[in-house]
This record gives sequence, structure tokens and C-alpha cells, in this order.
Amino acid sequence: MTVEKTRIDTLVVGAGQAGVAMSEHLGRLGVQHLVLERNRIAEAWRTGRWDSLVANGPAWHDRFPGLEFEGLDADAFAGKDQVAAYFETYAKKIDAPIRTGVEVLKVERNEGRSGFTVQTSMGLIEANQVVVATGPFQRPVIPPIAPQLPGITQLHSADYHNPRQLPEGAVLVVGAGSSGVQIADELQRAGKQVYLSVGAHDRPPRAYRNRDFCWWLGVLGLWDAEGVQPGKEHVTIAVSGARGGHTVDFRKLAHQGITLVGLTRAFDQGVVSFEANLAENIARGDENYLALLDAADDYIARNGLDLPEEPEARHMLPDPQCLTQPILELDLAKAGVTSIIWATGYSTDYSWLKVDAFKPDGKPQHQRGVSREPGIYFVGLPWLSRRGSAFIWGVWHDARHIAEHIVKQRTYFDYRDAAQREAAAHCDSNVQKLGVR
Ligand SMILES: Cc1cc2nc3c(=O)[nH]c(=O)nc-3n(C[C@H](O)[C@H](O)[C@H](O)COP(=O)(O)OP(=O)(O)OC[C@H]3O[C@@H](n4cnc5c(N)ncnc54)[C@H](O)[C@@H]3O)c2cc1C
Repeated sequence: MTVEKTRIDTLVVGAGQAGVAMSEHLGRLGVQHLVLERNRIAEAWRTGRWDSLVANGPAWHDRFPGLEFEGLDADAFAGKDQVAAYFETYAKKIDAPIRTGVEVLKVERNEGRSGFTVQTSMGLIEANQVVVATGPFQRPVIPPIAPQLPGITQLHSADYHNPRQLPEGAVLVVGAGSSGVQIADELQRAGKQVYLSVGAHDRPPRAYRNRDFCWWLGVLGLWDAEGVQPGKEHVTIAVSGARGGHTVDFRKLAHQGITLVGLTRAFDQGVVSFEANLAENIARGDENYLALLDAADDYIARNGLDLPEEPEARHMLPDPQCLTQPILELDLAKAGVTSIIWATGYSTDYSWLKVDAFKPDGKPQHQRGVSREPGIYFVGLPWLSRRGSAFIWGVWHDARHIAEHIVKQRTYFDYRDAAQREAAAHCDSNVQKLGVR
């Protein structure tokens, strides 16, 4: 192992999309920097997604401003490997100083002097600033209700790759955000009996009146919303770009053969119980869907846009039996359930970051990514500055703000008072007299 001690102005930790965007802006502003990545560029897109995953947004939207997806129709949805390749190409294009295979093990503020000492798997680094771009989705979260049941395969959606991975038998998918819904759909299409546990969710139309929902969120200013609406803190968003993209419609999934159940409450001796809130969750999701159609119609009328009417978008399929007579308890063995997939989200891990940048609950305390510990920045987190922050489209803009903040702060660090300026000038002239220059 090479041991080295390097001085760097700004160290970026992580080379997913957030780290690549950071590097672009720092480079453009002339900030000397280094990006360290413990795996490969865009590793989450390579190995942290199931095989068939495509981006949730179309190629014209889910990208950085400086590069289009090569060989992909603008309205198509990039596959996970195409997204990974995109960021690899992007990093080359901007000549990003990325070192892969290097893990950052510890970051500590220096005592009695400015900057940070960073322990890495390749040695020590001294940095004036550290930008944490380690991602919003680091540690798969499985809730404590998960049972210890012999004979039942349990995995988090982060470890799901394809239906062949699961044993024969029915599957319970817990969580119906974008991951849970798409995995449940894929498993049902592969011939499995699937139970899908549905909590509170938003479900925008995939497209309406010839425009993708990404476009609608943009023109309606919703990507730029600065905070979660009160009461929506635990609401997931169910969208899908699979099979060319379609609206997530829970009634359609049920008519297709998936059994919908409410929020998973508890497991007791092989019996799982569900909250009696399925109808309410579906109704709230419908409200969210219809509200976007209304806002879109309103926008079209106000701006006199010539976009085709789409009244059929408001037609709902009849309620399936699992919605009118919801299952509240399921004996897993009797139902033949042999696997459970937990599509229940992720948390972060900052155990390596020994700085004063966190709230009592362990979450970063920051304003638009500028933390309360001077010199420590976060980028890529959900709602860092707005709704778009954790997405490909949004992170690039947040990274620009952070890079500009780093440059702005330099004005203060570089300031010298009159006496210091005079001393520096004196020193300079002595150096010249000695003929050192
Ligand atoms: C299933 C799923 C589907 C998604 N689909 C979309 C989509 O379609 N469109 C969209 O816009 N967004 C999507 N997202 C959201 C978001 O775009 C991705 O999560 C994206 O990977 C986040 O990028 P990031 O750079 O912030 O973090 P990551 O991609 O997680 O990158 C962080 C990097 O940091 C590295 N790292 C972590 N700790 C260290 C350390 N100590 N030292 C060195 N390196 C370290 C990791 O190896 C990793 O490569 C999706 C998310 C998920 C989970």
C-alpha cells in the first residue's frame, strides 16, 4: 500500500452523479480539487439497482446540461448501465480528477489550524474543504418488524436483481414507492403470486397531454419546491419508466393479478397483519394524480398551449376486490409466501465524518448544502435545496451553488490587513534582492 500525504484545496468524497457534478463546477471555477471514490464512478447505478431498472425520467430530462445520452431517443428511458456509462463519459469529458478504489475512512477538523485531516485507504490528505457526495441512499433500511422466519428468503430492494433470484412460491413486497411497485410488477409478470403492501404515496401521471410528468413538474415549478409539504414527510413517489414508461395505477396492478394490502403492521408466528388503510392510501394517491392533471389543464389554459385534450386520463378502473375487501391478515405459510422483499428505503452513514455538522438526530445540519461546520459541504441529499436535489436533474444545480460558495469564502480567507500586506510586500522585495526569482 502506498502511503502518501497530499495537500489539496477541496476534497470531494464519492464519485456518483453528485461527485461528478461537483468536479465540473469546481474545475470551471479553478478550484484545485480531488474526488475520491471507494468503488467505481457511478457504482450505485452499476451494482445497487436491479437488472431491468431504467431511469424514472426520460433521457432529455435525467441528465446533466452539458451532455446528451448518446444513441438514445430523447423521450426514451436510459437503462441503469447506460446511466453509469453516461457518468463515466461525463467524467472523462470534463477531465475530472477522480481516483477510484480509494475509501475515505475518517475526516477530522485540525486542532489550532484551519482545514481537515483526511484518512484514506491510500494515506493521509490535508484539505481546506471537504464536500460529502456519498449519496442519499447508502444503507438499506429494513424496519424492526421484519420477522426471523426460517424458510423465508428476505432481501432489501437494493439486493434484488431479478425474479430468478427468488425461490419458488409467492412473494410479499413491502413498500410501494418506485422500487416496490416496479419489482412487484416484474415478479408478477414472471409468473409469481405477489402481495404488495401499499403505504402513503404520490403517483403522478407518467405523461399527460403529450408531456412527461418531469416536464410538468418543471413548468409548474414543483421540482423547485423548497420543502416537503407538511404531512407528506413519509410519502413516497410511485413512478416507472419500465417498458417505455407508464403511469403507476394500483387498480391496474390488482386487475393484472397483484394482491394489494395496506401498510405492513407486524409479524406474529408466521402471520403478517396489515393496517386497514389501503383504500385511504389509494384514494390519497388518486387525489395527488388528479391534482397534477388539474394543474396541467390550468397551465395549458393560462398559457394558451396547443396540447391535445386527454379526458380518458381521468377514467379510473373499477375497484378490485382486494381494495373493497382488503386482507388484514395473511398466514405466510398458507399463502405459500416464501420470500419478502423490503422496498423500504435507505439511510445514510456518516460515522467516518468526525465534524460538528450534524443535528441531534444525526442528520446533516446545513443550508443548501453549506454545513454549520465551516469547510464541510453536503451535496446530493433529498431536499438539499429543493425537490430536485437528489435527482440527476437537480444535483448539478446544487453543486454549482456549493462550488460558488467555496470560491466566495476564499475572499475572506485570502484577506490581509494593511500591516500584513506590507509585511508580505517587504518579504517579496527581500526575495527579489536575494535573486531567488
Ligand atoms: C432504485 C433507485 C432508482 C433511482 N432512479 C433515479 C432516476 O431514474 N432518476 C434520478 O434522477 N434519480 C434516481 N434515483 C435517485 C438518485 O439519482 C440516485 O440515488 C443516485 O445514485 C444518487 O447519486 P449520488 O451521487 O448522490 O450518490 P451515489 O450514486 O450513491 O454515489 C455516492 C458514491 O460515494 C461513494 N462513497 C460512499 N462513501 C464513501 C467513502 N467513505 N469514501 C469514498 N467513496 C465513498 C460510493 O461508492 C458511491 O459511488 C434513484 C435511486 C434509487 C435508489
